[in-house]
Amino acid sequence: MPLEAGLLEILACPACHSPLREEADELICTGATECGLVYPVRDGIPVLLVDEARRPS
Ligand SMILES: [Zn+2]
Repeated sequence: MPLEAGLLEILACPACHSPLREEADELICTGATECGLVYPVRDGIPVLLVDEARRPS
C-alpha cells in the first residue's frame, strides 16, 4: 500500500534525521551508511521506531 502523497517528505529517520525513501513495504534511511536503518510500514502506517527497525542485509 503506497504511503499518502507528501508523507515521505515530512518523515525523517528518528536515528539520524535523514530523509527516508519508500521501497516495497519499508522505509529506508538515506542517511550516512553507518545508519541506513530499514523501518517497517504496517497497514500503511510507518513505524519509525529504532527498536522496530532492522539493519539492511
Ligand atoms: Zn538514519
